[in-house]
Amino acid sequence: MPLTNVQTRDVEALLHPYTPLHKLRETGPLVLDHGEGVFVYDTQGKRYIEGMSGLWCAGLGFGDKELIEAAREQLDRLPYYHLFGGKSIEPAIELAEKLKEIAPFEASKVFFTSSGSEANDTQVKLAWYYNNARGRPEKKKIISRQKAYHGVTIVSASLTGLPNNHRDFDLPVDRILHTDCPHYYRFGEPGETEEEFTARTVRSLKELIAREGPETIAAFIAEPIMGAGGVIVPPAGYFEAVQAVLAEHDILFIADEVITGFGRTGNWWGSETFGIAPDTVSVAKQLTSAYAPLGAVMISEELYQAFVEESAKIGVFGHGFTYGGHPLGCALGVKAIEIYQSRDILSRVRALAPQFQERLERLRDHPLVGEVRFKGLVGGVELVADKTTKRPFAANHGVGGICAKHLENHGAILRAIGDTIALCPPMIITSDELSQLFDSLEKALDDTEATVTR
Ligand code: PLP
Repeated sequence: MPLTNVQTRDVEALLHPYTPLHKLRETGPLVLDHGEGVFVYDTQGKRYIEGMSGLWCAGLGFGDKELIEAAREQLDRLPYYHLFGGKSIEPAIELAEKLKEIAPFEASKVFFTSSGSEANDTQVKLAWYYNNARGRPEKKKIISRQKAYHGVTIVSASLTGLPNNHRDFDLPVDRILHTDCPHYYRFGEPGETEEEFTARTVRSLKELIAREGPETIAAFIAEPIMGAGGVIVPPAGYFEAVQAVLAEHDILFIADEVITGFGRTGNWWGSETFGIAPDTVSVAKQLTSAYAPLGAVMISEELYQAFVEESAKIGVFGHGFTYGGHPLGCALGVKAIEIYQSRDILSRVRALAPQFQERLERLRDHPLVGEVRFKGLVGGVELVADKTTKRPFAANHGVGGICAKHLENHGAILRAIGDTIALCPPMIITSDELSQLFDSLEKALDDTEATVTR
């Protein structure tokens, strides 16, 4: 098919993130024009059910009138101001208060960024700063996990544990380490029970800490559910065991709740769902339901006190972004949290979760499906070349992308993460719309099976 005018303009002008650039000039992008509820429409007027909330973020769907009105009011009142050097704005204050109220730990202060990557970058700087302030300059290493996704800045991409984010970028930087990924289906050994696998994974973390020296390790960072690594739900007991190891060595737990925050797993936080007691938390995405870019780091009183003492010595706390705490993002964050509360989004997610789970489990029998994974309203369907042996498709096969394309033909958008099809529908989705999404997915899997070579 020849490219449309807007597609041609796109390929002439844009460098797209996370896109097979070598194919885009032939296929052209899918150009979206507007959205309403859980649906988006392309420039040709075709409607798609958006089963990924964009990039795990538009949790309240598209065209929400209350959010739009909150944005309009804030733009009229004060479109920009900052929090530097003793200035402030009320939307930032109000959002920080709300975050403290709902935080999964005793949060003392909130630091705003514009994205999840900046939030995690900030986490690393804060951990380093904190240990300098406490006279432990050698306690600087951060342990992340293989298959983690924490962002794309130099340091957050280093925390990310995916080879494509490191190769060619000369990453990871020093002081960032990666421990085992807790994915039983992929990394469990033949004959090993899930419990044994969990124990081995945690033992491997212990050994890494012992090898490096616990006095050199500042923090461990983890997503409660690994999102962009393939929607990997940890085995029961994993985080409890990890936390026991960290507690022995005074290592902070940084929870990256960028995907799992704000109701996605059926609780406010993935930390609650998986029994995590974090020392500090990163958020973004559903913080504003993606109506404006905003991220945040919530910190404890202990960290804050260290920063105050250090600031008294050197004159200033030397970190901040021009748009961190942007009034538009903060006004939208306040409104989004109000909506999560007033529309009881958590109960909605819990009520829909059994249907979500049942439709995912039904896919287990499909010849292409190796494993399905889920919690609340986030899930993943891993496609394999051989169900019995779990053999994956060849790395350059692109089966996930093929399935995602068939999904578009059937009026649905989901995201292929390698060979895993991720699902993260807007939390306002109805039961009928959820059925429609899975009907499209089933058809797309059949179409893929009909054409795929193994
Ligand atoms: N952390 C997690 C868990 C994420 O999923 C993402 C993005 O997908 C990020 C951090 C990075 O956020 P951003 O793309 O806003 O920089």
